Parts: sequence; C-alpha cells; structure tokens
Amino acid sequence: MLVIIKMPQTTLTGKELPEEEFWAEGSFIESCSNEDWELKKRTFHMKHNEEMNYNCKQCNVKISAHNKDWHANLCDKCFDKMVDEK
Ligand SMILES: [Zn+2]
Repeated sequence: MLVIIKMPQTTLTGKELPEEEFWAEGSFIESCSNEDWELKKRTFHMKHNEEMNYNCKQCNVKISAHNKDWHANLCDKCFDKMVDEK
C-alpha cells in the first residue's frame, strides 16, 4: 500500500524512527478494525480540500474528510503542532 508521505517520521513520543520501524510500531493502521479501514481507505486518497464537512477539534476551522480520518480530527496546522510538541 501507499505510505502517508507527508506524515512526519516520528512516533507520538517524538522519537524519530526510520520509515519501516515507524510503521512496524503501527499506530493508525493496526488500531483500525477492518470496517474502519474500509472507510478510511476511501478518504486516504482524497485531497486535503475535499469534503470539507468537518471541523478541527482544536481551532474549529473547516477540515476535510481526509484530515478527519488521517490527522486525528485536526487541521494541518494543529496536527503539525501536536506532532511537534510531543
Ligand atoms: Zn486546527
């Protein structure tokens, strides 16, 4: 499968990992049930500005379905910030 290229290669604790180890640590993917995964696969290939039907849980700006599923309900800005801070 395709890898989320824009994803910073760090764990949630901020430890930097090589790409394979990052995925081996398995955050998003392994925590999904098959059903979730089917839903998320749909938004995975969507653009960041498609289906802007959601709000960032941090700053409340409009976010896309992609961000909802793949960026923890955060806009790109808040998501980056969260990743930086941890
Ligand atoms: Zn935000």
